Amino acid sequence: MNPEVRRRIILGFAVLAAFVFLALVAFHPWIALGILLISHLLILYPTLVANCQWWGRVVTHFETPRREVWLTIDDGPHPLHTPRMLEILREFEARATFFVIATRAEKYPAELAAIRAAGHEIANHTATHPSAIFWCLPPRRIAEEIDGRKIPSRYFRTPAGLKNFFVHPALRRRGMDLIGWTVRGLDTVSKDADAVAARIQSRTKPGAILLLHEGHHLQSDPGFHPRCLELTLRDLTTKGYRCVLPEPEQLRPRAVEKQKDGY
Ligand SMILES: [Zn+2]
Repeated sequence: MNPEVRRRIILGFAVLAAFVFLALVAFHPWIALGILLISHLLILYPTLVANCQWWGRVVTHFETPRREVWLTIDDGPHPLHTPRMLEILREFEARATFFVIATRAEKYPAELAAIRAAGHEIANHTATHPSAIFWCLPPRRIAEEIDGRKIPSRYFRTPAGLKNFFVHPALRRRGMDLIGWTVRGLDTVSKDADAVAARIQSRTKPGAILLLHEGHHLQSDPGFHPRCLELTLRDLTTKGYRCVLPEPEQLRPRAVEKQKDGY
């Protein structure tokens, strides 16, 4: 179903449910409450569940006939982690996309420049990373988080994959894609780098989008994120995977057929 049609059906149902609730609540209160609950769930599910496609397309993999993955690193740059992460990426000849928070990019311009100079890609992970409230931001604030402090990129990733009714129209107007993931290491909550790497390895397949972070665990374990990256890249290398930056066409479904034909 066309995502725009689906968005309007969900919203239309919510409006209708409110009227039905008011009409029924005096005579059939449980049925009225049930309809209201369903309409709320239909809105909350695509808003809070990362990678849910009900509000619009979320890119969760790319098309490739080869053993390639797209490594993405969120929440940087950070002077404690970025230089070491870049060393590790160079050591494994891996390329990555850094989804940076614009306020951090402003604060650490040298690290941002180093990412670019090393041939990696920089993408937009909001201006201020308002992870607790992003899901309920109005259109004006969503626009500020996308445009706020100019990270020129066609790719946008929301905090923790949260999104709402206004995110996709805002991205569509700007010609941008919402990028999710195939597997995340859960490295912001885990304290075990081996477990993070093992989790990623268990779900890696050609065309997978992998999600790691930097800039967390700064006091408790400053070497944690670089260690997660190193272990992950070691596993990927052993299994014959290369970390590449996919072309925008590879994010479209069916691009793989064209690539195969070209061989
Ligand atoms: Zn983040």
